Amino acid sequence: MPPFIKESINDIIDDDIPDLEPVIDPTLDKQLQPSKEKYSIKIVWRNVILMSALHIAAIYGAYLCFVSAKWQTNLAAFVLYQMGGLGITAGCHRLWAHKAYKARLPLRILLAMFQTIAFQNHIYEWSRDHRVHHKYSETDADPHNSRRGFFFAHVGWLLVRKHPDVIRKGRQIGMDDLMRDPVVRVQRKYYLPLVLFFCFIMPTYVPYLFWNESLYNGFYICALLRYAWTLNMTWLVNSAAHFWGRHPYDKEIMPAENYFTVYGALGEGFHNYHHTFPWDYAASELGWRFNVSTMFINAMHAIGLAYDLKQVSPEMIMKRKQRTGDVPLKGNYGLYHPSTTKIDELKSE
Ligand SMILES: [Zn+2]
Ligand SMILES: [Zn+2]
Repeated sequence: MPPFIKESINDIIDDDIPDLEPVIDPTLDKQLQPSKEKYSIKIVWRNVILMSALHIAAIYGAYLCFVSAKWQTNLAAFVLYQMGGLGITAGCHRLWAHKAYKARLPLRILLAMFQTIAFQNHIYEWSRDHRVHHKYSETDADPHNSRRGFFFAHVGWLLVRKHPDVIRKGRQIGMDDLMRDPVVRVQRKYYLPLVLFFCFIMPTYVPYLFWNESLYNGFYICALLRYAWTLNMTWLVNSAAHFWGRHPYDKEIMPAENYFTVYGALGEGFHNYHHTFPWDYAASELGWRFNVSTMFINAMHAIGLAYDLKQVSPEMIMKRKQRTGDVPLKGNYGLYHPSTTKIDELKSE
């Protein structure tokens, strides 16, 4: 495991946390006064139709997995799910949105390709939405505000026009750091052709070219089913992990430790931990346990492509649990949160 890069929360906040504060620009401030307009839900029917069609096609793709696909095709769909998932978790989320570690150019290019396979908007937009989500969690400015219900937090937020507060606050979020990264700029500029190739054409043709699968199966299984599955696993972080689970680190916030999401989203379901310590590259205090994304980042660190991995010290985690977690009230969570056993020791000091 990498060494603790930072020991003090103040060091981390001062030096390395992405600039989540509003841009101090008086002219912009004036334009961004709270709007007087009353918000009413406007459904984007094009998205409703496309998303419905995608999910119907994905169900058909799942059927084809069992009745006509070669095993290599099903395996390829799984591998593409892992690749796209890592593009979102290790790439867009932990690297670009949170700057929880740094990556050299070859790794950034690889992660941008992976992120394009997942087709969840380009890195810049995904990261901006995510920074707004952290800064304004469970408010109207949160793009997938879970106070509007499970369905809205899961997929509904993509089917309606954004709340004006999301747009307003999104414009205020500092994103200059991402625009300085040429990988982010190039991916943003050529996003449409890139996404057509990486999310649809490549997954359709690889099974056809390498093991003589039909294009039909490649399209329905490796492109559409795999795409819909990855989307839903990512959305669980916004829905399930904001509704169900324990709150060992901060009992006052909705994000929770949701184990189903941990498995589906490659280690991203430790969401109470993540909202409490968003700069931790591992997004968990449990190292590799159920955390494919952390394994991947550690592997990249081992070969020198990832560096400056930020991690919260066990002492800081323990103190935070004692101060704001529900562990002192609800007891030790055993296997899943081992350092809780030390809380009693800490109290007796
Ligand atoms: Zn969240
Ligand atoms: Zn996050």
